[in-house]
Amino acid sequence: MLTQTEAISILKNELSWSDVQVQIGRRAGFRCEYCGKDLLASYENYDLWQVDHIIPNGNNGIENLALSCKLCNFVKRGTDPSKTAKSNQRDDLINAAKEIINIRRKQKEAVYVKTLEAVITLR
Ligand SMILES: [Zn+2]
Repeated sequence: MLTQTEAISILKNELSWSDVQVQIGRRAGFRCEYCGKDLLASYENYDLWQVDHIIPNGNNGIENLALSCKLCNFVKRGTDPSKTAKSNQRDDLINAAKEIINIRRKQKEAVYVKTLEAVITLR
């Protein structure tokens, strides 16, 4: 078993993680901060790892960065959650982004279901 210091050393020195990547991963519990997907559950999940700017075109400070899976990051796109958030606190911004992402994911799922119903007869 590695110590935390050894683990961080491997991430940074052998796997080229930045300090910010380490901090973002640990803060998020290595899960997408929007949908909760465990980004370490498998290689496929790990490959979905992205970092989102909570407020797009905002600053690159760690408070404005969120660990996100590719799908959540894609459906959120350039949406600014500060327009619907209760406050500009990070938790409120994340919750507002989650709501936006949930709505869009449900819309995409509805398109998928309709597509599947149409395509299934073509298989
Ligand atoms: Zn996600």
